[in-house]
Formats: sequence, structure tokens, C-alpha cells
Amino acid sequence: MISHSPFLAACQECGKVSRVPHLPEDQTAFCPRCGNSLVVRIKGCHTKVFAYGLAALILQVVSCFFPFMAIDVEGITQQVALIDVLIVFFYFHKAALASLLLLTIIFLPAFYLVGLITLFAMAWYSATVQKHPGDSAWAKRLFRFVFCIEPWLLVDIFFIGALVSIIKMASLSDISIGNAFWTYFFFALLVVKCSRMADRHWLCAYLFAPVSIGDVQPGDSHLTGNHLVCRLCNQINPVTDSNVDAPGHCQRCHFRLYPYNPGQSIRLTAALLMTSLIFYFPANLYPMMYTTSFGDSSGSTIMEGVIFLWNEGSYPVALVILAASIILPLSKMLILTHLLWSLRRQGEASQVVLERLHLYRFIEVIGRWSMIDVFVVAILSALVQFGELMGVTPGRAVFYFALVVIFTLLSTGFFDPRILWQNISDPDCHGHKTPKDCLRFDNKEAL
Ligand SMILES: [Zn+2]
Ligand SMILES: [Zn+2]
Repeated sequence: MISHSPFLAACQECGKVSRVPHLPEDQTAFCPRCGNSLVVRIKGCHTKVFAYGLAALILQVVSCFFPFMAIDVEGITQQVALIDVLIVFFYFHKAALASLLLLTIIFLPAFYLVGLITLFAMAWYSATVQKHPGDSAWAKRLFRFVFCIEPWLLVDIFFIGALVSIIKMASLSDISIGNAFWTYFFFALLVVKCSRMADRHWLCAYLFAPVSIGDVQPGDSHLTGNHLVCRLCNQINPVTDSNVDAPGHCQRCHFRLYPYNPGQSIRLTAALLMTSLIFYFPANLYPMMYTTSFGDSSGSTIMEGVIFLWNEGSYPVALVILAASIILPLSKMLILTHLLWSLRRQGEASQVVLERLHLYRFIEVIGRWSMIDVFVVAILSALVQFGELMGVTPGRAVFYFALVVIFTLLSTGFFDPRILWQNISDPDCHGHKTPKDCLRFDNKEAL
């Protein structure tokens, strides 16, 4: 049940524990030290999740059965459905890539929506009958599954990839949009909306029984060593004999607890970063796709594709591909290297650390968008198949490029931003004395 008394929340990005007063709906409490959102309350979250989730599921089914797009070359029309695009890599012996597309565009979003609706229905039932939340292992397992797969839903990026493909082909041939294209657009929109409406604070309050946080106080942090924070439900767990040496599990959702271990985080981030850098070379040196035109076949790397589009006058598409495939992966790698390197410095001002944290947030947000080019190749390979007349075949670089994106995502995920705060010279937050004084809300006059 939603508690009307203040509660403690620990920031995932700087580690600071703050006391949060009862937070009305449609308000967000931000961390006083780094500005990260601690608790986000959504008004009527369960009805919004039911409405958006069910509508998205219906649209997803419809998207799979109608034509997605069609192309006309020299009077011959080729039409594809969404599922043709997603499985096209199977025909070119790239089963891993086809599985990745099917998972991130069809299966994971469907499981996510069904799981989210089920969890909110259980919590709503608990809230309606004023039943005390139980301790169901099944609900905990579903909660962990749903929120673990959330970062891997790439439906919005696939839609942008489809848009880029249309603009790319529009100058070369007649291309038309099918009904499934629009249903997919609304499906992607609703999935994003649904994930934003999932108020985890409300969900956990009605789904799981309240748990103890031990002797944790406002102002404590990950360096105090008296608690471990669950990355999934944000529950503060007191350090006990069972989780002080070996990783334990969150009392509330049973997700694995990771003790603060800067050395391990740095090593894993650096190793994954190096791996992505190694794959970045073949991703740029091998052809991304082969184009056949009147019997002549030629391969083009990512950069050659950008130059070709620029020379053809498709400036917006050239810039999108350049940004998504060259600039974003390089920026991610450079920023992560900079963050790792900056950890060598001691006693820096919190303002400097905050600027680094903004860089970390930037690469977290942009990380997934590099997949656009992989989706463009999949769509064009499925759509442009006219034998010797005209055809597109995926190149070896697609596989390596997908690996670059996956490894940079993992690298960012393993980087614990709380490490940035461990050597600051001014540990107090902007001169305020108590965490409550400097806790910030988006509706400032209410609290
Ligand atoms: Zn913070
Ligand atoms: Zn948890």
C-alpha cells in the first residue's frame, strides 16, 4: 500500500540516501545531489497501462498480417510484411541477427506488455479489495523479467529505421506504405507510452509486502556500507551476514543485489569497451550491404553509403546514417574512455563530477539508436529483391556492427556511475545541510 509517511530512497547515480515525503500523483522527486529522478508518480497508472498495453498488443498483431511497405521497379511490384523484414537475415545465413530482430521487435515487446498488464492487474486487485500485498514468488519472478527486458525493446528505433529506408529508396524507385506501417507506428508509440506510465513505486507498494531498511539514515550513501540498493525496484536493503560477502537478493523483488565494487565495475566496463572497439574495425571495413543493379553487384561500407547518399542529394538520410552509425558509437566509446580515465583524479568538485554524470546519461540515452542502420539493411534486403534487375544483400559488417552496439550497451550498463562520486572534495550537496532541504520536486509549490 502507498505509505503516507516519509520514506527513504537511494539514488542509483550518486548513491545518496534522501528522505522523500509522501509524494502525490503526477509528481517526481529528484535527487538533491545529482538531479536523478528518485520516485516518479503517475496519476491513474494502472488504467493507463491497461489501455495503452492492450491497444499496443492488438496493433502488434494487426501489424504482422497486413503489408508493411511495397516497392515498384520497372513495373514489377514487391510487397513485404513486417515478419518478412524481421526474418530476412535467416535467408542470408545470419540466424543470430534474425533472432535478435525477432526478439527485440516482436517477442520481447509482446512479453513485456502482457507481463506489465498482469502485474498492474494484480496490484490493482490488491488496491481495490484493500488486501495486504502478498509475497508471491511468481509475481516477483514476473516483475524481474518485465523490468529486465525493458531496455531491450527496440520498437521505436525500428520505426525510425523504416522511415530512413523509405526516404533512402524514394529517390530510386516508387515506394508505398502499407497499412501495417501505420499500425506499427502507433504500436511503437504505445509501447513507449506504456513504459513511461509504469509507476514502479505504486506497483511495488501494492504488489509486495513492506520490508525493513535497517538503520539506514538520510545522508548515507553507497560509501557508508550499511545498505545495498536494488537496481530494479530501488529498495534499500540492509547489509546482513548473508549479503555482505556473497551477493544476496533484494528482500522485495528478489533481484540479485550487487555490492558496490568499483574495481569490478571498471574492469568489466573496460573489457566490454575494448571488445566493442575491436568489432568497430570490421564493422567499418567490411561492406554493410551489396547492391545489385542490372547484373552488376557492388558492396559499400557504412562511410561509402553515407558519401553515396550525400552525392545523391539525400542529405537528411546521409546525416542520420552518419550520426547513428559513425558518430554515436564513436562518441559512446570516447565518453566511456574519458569517464574511466577521469577516475584517476582525486578530490574534484561535485560540479565537475556532475558534468561527467551528464555525459554518462547522454550515452545511456543514445546507446540504442545506433541500431538504426542494422534495421535499414534488414528492411532494404527484404524489400529490394528483383533478381538481376535490382537487389540488396546484407554484408558482413551488419553482424559486427550489431555486436558493437550490444557491447557498448553492456559496457555502459556495467559502469556504475556512483564511482564518479567517491573522490569528490565537497561531499555536501550544494551547501545544503540536510537532504530534505535540498530534495527537489517537479511541482515545487506542493512540497
Ligand atoms: Zn543522485
Ligand atoms: Zn528489488
